[in-house]
Amino acid sequence: MDPVGVAAAPDAGPGPAWQSKCPWGASNTTSISCSLADVMSEQLAKELQLEEENAAFPEVVAVAEGPFITGENIDTSSDLMLAQMLQMEFDREYDAQLRREEKKINGDSKVSISFENFRKVHPYDSDSSEDEVDWQDTRHDPYRADKPTTTPRKGFIGKGKDITTKHDEVVCGRKNTARMENFAPEFQVGDGIGMDLKLSNQVFNALKQHAYSEERRSARLHEKKEHSTAEKAVDPKTRLLLYKMVNAGMLETITGCISTGKESVVFHAYGGKSATEDKVIPPECAIKVFKTTLNEFKNRDKYIKDDYRFKDRFSKLNPRKIIRMWAEKEMHNLTRMQNAGIPCPQVVILKKHVLVMSFIGQDQVPAPKLKDVTLSSEDMKKAYYQILNMMQQLYKECNLVHADLSEYNMLWHDGKVWLIDVSQSVEPTHPHGLEFLFRDCRNVSQFFQKGGVAEALNERELFNAVSGLNITADNEVDFQAEIEALEKMNEDHVQNHGKKLSMFSSDGDPPIYDE
Ligand code: ADP
Ligand code: MN
Repeated sequence: MDPVGVAAAPDAGPGPAWQSKCPWGASNTTSISCSLADVMSEQLAKELQLEEENAAFPEVVAVAEGPFITGENIDTSSDLMLAQMLQMEFDREYDAQLRREEKKINGDSKVSISFENFRKVHPYDSDSSEDEVDWQDTRHDPYRADKPTTTPRKGFIGKGKDITTKHDEVVCGRKNTARMENFAPEFQVGDGIGMDLKLSNQVFNALKQHAYSEERRSARLHEKKEHSTAEKAVDPKTRLLLYKMVNAGMLETITGCISTGKESVVFHAYGGKSATEDKVIPPECAIKVFKTTLNEFKNRDKYIKDDYRFKDRFSKLNPRKIIRMWAEKEMHNLTRMQNAGIPCPQVVILKKHVLVMSFIGQDQVPAPKLKDVTLSSEDMKKAYYQILNMMQQLYKECNLVHADLSEYNMLWHDGKVWLIDVSQSVEPTHPHGLEFLFRDCRNVSQFFQKGGVAEALNERELFNAVSGLNITADNEVDFQAEIEALEKMNEDHVQNHGKKLSMFSSDGDPPIYDE
């Protein structure tokens, strides 16, 4: 059963008295009416055919793109959350009961029956990492018959003139009628399923297509309604995660969205109370939600698939898990930076693709990015030296290269610069680590040179100052060629010696490139 279908009930129009009393009863009222003319229309059938061909996997589309819930309707959507939580509770009890019955029936018997298939495996139910197959879930696929057909593979039953093939009109008609059960719940098929109704293939196919298009149409409408501020959106699962955090008291309130990027949405929240005494939740938090729409992350593969910390896991994972890995990576990197004393958000908690950290800013106002703030020349100089220092610390103490360092990912707060956005940060021995570092240096150097800091090193000098390397090329092209040569050398070394750690002494000194 679809929990969202249940949750939609309060929105439905007025129904009979018994429906308004029963919270679950009203879902029928969202029925979609259709005329016979609609169903039989040639034109429609053709369109539907096209649509069907264009979207082979309706479920995937529905999960990936919506229905989104926006940051602006927090109050009404918590009804949805509430309904989902109730549904979850209900499902859990139902499953527990099933298990009890299963146990009772089976007793000590050697042969046992299983009710496994009747469980309401709830998509939100489990916190384990194994629960994320639902994005390719086909449970409601109207094209997939639930039970295997009873006609054997040879295609017929019986002998001689009593032969019954799978094309038999009666058998087929009954089967078609039964298959109507697989249509979306809101598509009313009447009680034909209870009668001995036989639908011809033609009628069944027309109905099937219509049911399917109605399902998609209703999904689209729903999506449109909720999509009005799509940029600020998170999907229902994420909302549930957030809701749980609020519910557990860890967060006081989620006030709104501070940023929507291609790969993440960031919210502000007031911190609540920690379950454990030793951990203090900051008064204000930033919640970074890594977007689960998968496409944007494809161009970021290069940051993670060559990072040996994640390499082994990368190849085996589905896209959703890879997104979680970004969140995890950001958490690890922030922790390293925190330990080195670099000003950066402090990690509060990581839940799947949602990372909660301390908020840089005050009273819901995030600290401005370096690109947006106008600093006095004195502060500008101060900021420059601080960043030079941080880059060295990052490299030498954290063994990291930011890899997206620029005035966009540095915040000015409390009279100093704070580094954020480190999900893509890599270790210097990453196959492209030094190239990333060079790019960072170029951004920083250009920003401060344009900003009038006369002392600012140029990008090549900065690179050497941060890495401790001594690349002498005096032009960019040669410099980059040398960087790539070093990276190549490192890779060859790894090929021959099998481990990257050999590039570092165990106490975290910088890599030694010339052996
Ligand atoms: P993206 O990958 O979308 O660039 P960021 O981590 O850079 O993600 O976050 C986007 C924006 O959200 C930042 O530019 C900043 O304005 C805001 N932001 C992110 N983290 C915090 C934080 N801890 N405190 C305050 N603002 C933050
Ligand atoms: Mn950013």
